[in-house]
Amino acid sequence: MIARVTLELALGKEFDYLIPDEMEGLVEVGTRVKVPFARRQVLGCVTALPESSPHPHLRPLIKIVGRQSFVSPKILQLARWMGEYYCCPPEIALKTVLPEAVRKEKEGWREQLSVRVLTVNGAGPKLSKRQAQVLEIARQRGELPLQELLQSADTTAQTLRRLEDKGLIAITPQISERDPYGRETILPTQSLTFNPDQQRAFEDITAAMSGTGVPPKSLPDTLPGAELKSDVPSALAAGIGRDAQSKQAGGLFHSNVFLLHGVTGSGKTEVYLQAIARSLQQGKGAIVLVPEISLTPQTVERFKARFSSGPLQTLVAVLHSHLSAGERHDEWHKIRQGRARIVIGARSAVFAPVDPLGLIIVDEEHENSYKQEESPRYHARDVAVVRARMENAVVVLGSATPSMESFYNVEKGKYRLLEMPIRADHKKMPVVRVVDMRQVARKEKGTPILSPDLKEAILKRLERGEQTLLFLNRRGFATSLQCPLCGYVAQCPNCSLSLTYHRQAGKLRCHICGHEAIAPAVCPDPKCRNPAIRYAGLGTEKVEATLAKLFPRARIRRMDSDTLKRKEDYRRILGDFRTGKIDLLVGTQMIAKGLHFPNVTLVGIIYADLSLHMPDFRAGERTFQLLTQVAGRAGRGDVEGEVFVQAFTPFHPAIQYARRHDFAGFYEQEIEFRRQLNYPPASRIALLLLKGRNEEKVNFSAAHVRHEIEKWSGAFPDMILAGPAPAPLARTESKYRFHIMLRTRQMTRLSQRLAGLIASLTLPEEVAMTVDIDPVNLM
Ligand code: ADP
Ligand code: ZN
Repeated sequence: MIARVTLELALGKEFDYLIPDEMEGLVEVGTRVKVPFARRQVLGCVTALPESSPHPHLRPLIKIVGRQSFVSPKILQLARWMGEYYCCPPEIALKTVLPEAVRKEKEGWREQLSVRVLTVNGAGPKLSKRQAQVLEIARQRGELPLQELLQSADTTAQTLRRLEDKGLIAITPQISERDPYGRETILPTQSLTFNPDQQRAFEDITAAMSGTGVPPKSLPDTLPGAELKSDVPSALAAGIGRDAQSKQAGGLFHSNVFLLHGVTGSGKTEVYLQAIARSLQQGKGAIVLVPEISLTPQTVERFKARFSSGPLQTLVAVLHSHLSAGERHDEWHKIRQGRARIVIGARSAVFAPVDPLGLIIVDEEHENSYKQEESPRYHARDVAVVRARMENAVVVLGSATPSMESFYNVEKGKYRLLEMPIRADHKKMPVVRVVDMRQVARKEKGTPILSPDLKEAILKRLERGEQTLLFLNRRGFATSLQCPLCGYVAQCPNCSLSLTYHRQAGKLRCHICGHEAIAPAVCPDPKCRNPAIRYAGLGTEKVEATLAKLFPRARIRRMDSDTLKRKEDYRRILGDFRTGKIDLLVGTQMIAKGLHFPNVTLVGIIYADLSLHMPDFRAGERTFQLLTQVAGRAGRGDVEGEVFVQAFTPFHPAIQYARRHDFAGFYEQEIEFRRQLNYPPASRIALLLLKGRNEEKVNFSAAHVRHEIEKWSGAFPDMILAGPAPAPLARTESKYRFHIMLRTRQMTRLSQRLAGLIASLTLPEEVAMTVDIDPVNLM
């Protein structure tokens, strides 16, 4: 018998090994094994059990790692697809689907000594009074952790060892599971009665789950925006392609993607909860993906609470980056063993071993954090769609501001749209006022941070004891240090970016590489030495300082990555805000996402244009999303909310459509622009980045890569090839960066070509190339 193994080494190849007799029948696809490789022993994962091998002299496996096969054939298939589509080596794709804590050779369970009282026939040995007391306490409990007994009986380990010697108790190691939320008491909740919109959405989703749903106008292909059959990756083509699907069960529809477009507070979460309940009733589990930043204890609790009791009771496993390795290990195994049927987590939870899987929910599907910015550069939303297709599960993508990609798929008939345009709690949408800062600047003879209107609105809230959120997507005090006399600007020596002034720290910092310098008191140019050196632009730190001056009695706090040094800081600041200990909270995008604060009646956006001026075709979309999300923080309680948007380009469509809460309007004009310029979702992008310390060499290598691409670019009639050109961030951490951008609708085919290119390419040693399929970050 032969096992084909992917090793945990970056080799991009698989190797065959003999299965020794004693392991016969124990090795399956997905089993983790230790194998000999050259003169080393390495870990790997069995990916196939072929009948024969093209290689004559096979070495045997050394051992099986772990009791269960770790990677199910379904997840393995998903990893294959990911490797192929995102142009990454199979071992990296495989590594990604298993958390580090689970991959270790030694099983990572925590063991704890436990004391059990044994039954003794007859009188038993003689005991001291103390020993008898301790034994009695232990007997009342039957079995308990040793540490607990030491405490409650106020005794020593020595006394217990003596009782053990006398054969009265047994002390044995037991697995003790870590529970990251173990210390919190969670009160069960009941289903709410749906309003008509929720009811309709729920019925459509559950109809699809039971296979009786109406398919969308056309059957879905693979990924969002994908072309027809040619784009079905090979792993998918086997049996789950378009034809196979329509033949299944006499045309019954088995996989369905929904886009749930519901305004903030429309009650999407309640729809998710009841759809999950239905999935459990059908004997299937569910995965809920939430952006890392929204994975707050509040969010987790809503899911845990609903399934903490009753006939559908199950553990809800949580997977996110703040767990310890041990916690992650235990959560993962709870899922693998089927004890946790529901998983809530950030991006990588899309690979959770829920089996069988009925439902995947991707909340805030437009969020960029679903894209992993290192290899494999996968997008969790897109992986969710592919996984659901493979496992006949239903996907619900939820958002108040859907991505252009997902809405385009609705327009093309690939996804089905569910709309929930009103708030479930009947709270009104906030009134949004756009403040023209050009006029303000003219009247005030200078640009204040707060316009008189916003200032007055804040004062009103302070008087009424209501809370205000102020938002600016830039931290620090000033964005640059400039000398008005000689034109000097403080630049990072390693990056093509100006340094940001952080007043509290008294430092200039690079927001890319972290380079720090002491802020100079005079212009550092020896010929100039001008003492009137100026700080231009503003960040959250400056907003905070200005507020303190304007409202000396208000309790003001700032929340951005500078003020959050430790893991508890985030919780603490939000806790203080919730309990009313803060009047004014200033922050970056951290405060823009999914938080519920009933007493917030005012939201101010200090400088809405900031995200509009990014060199990125998605700048308008991002701005629209950001404004809508931030505005959604206002008025979630009984008092109607008010939003002030300060802008220098107040008539920009992204701002105007956000003001009117008009997603459809925004989409219509934005898609026109994308079509004209052949940008996603009208086309797709593969972005090649070449990096190195020597600018000449990087440039030369990039030109060579383009030349290689041109050899076969004719096979893609719609392809637009741009570059090489310096990336918008032309240099970071002392490395020069060049981009080549390829645009086509046939991305699966292009991925294959690019994988071939990577394999055959020889670049100078100091030049590195990465390929990003469907990039989110174009900097
Ligand atoms: P979303 O996820 O769309 O932002 P939520 O699910 O958080 O919205 O719902 C907003 C508020 O409305 C919550 O307080 C929730 O408990 C409440 N809610 C949701 N559905 C209903 C309903 N059918 N009846 C009454 N209240 C509801
Ligand atoms: Zn730098």
